[in-house]
Amino acid sequence: MNTTWRDDALCREVDTELFMPEVGGSTAEAKRVCMACEVRRHCLEYAIDAQEPYGVWGGVGQQELRRLIRARRAEQEAA
Ligand code: SF4
Repeated sequence: MNTTWRDDALCREVDTELFMPEVGGSTAEAKRVCMACEVRRHCLEYAIDAQEPYGVWGGVGQQELRRLIRARRAEQEAA
């Protein structure tokens, strides 16, 4: 899996704890950073493929990421 996109990740420049909030904690600030990140699509694709179990990836939190992972799995099963 190519992860060279991480070199350009905007979250490298901010407090990474923003991206791993406590259960029930706000993800708003992390998502705001993601929206300005030029590798957001690569990051989201990676998180879906890797089924990342924690944190904010590609501008989405865990609830949305779980939904995208299920949708990807359904697509693959239908193919
Ligand atoms: S989209 Fe967000 S989590 Fe992903 S690399 Fe960019 S800033 Fe980091």
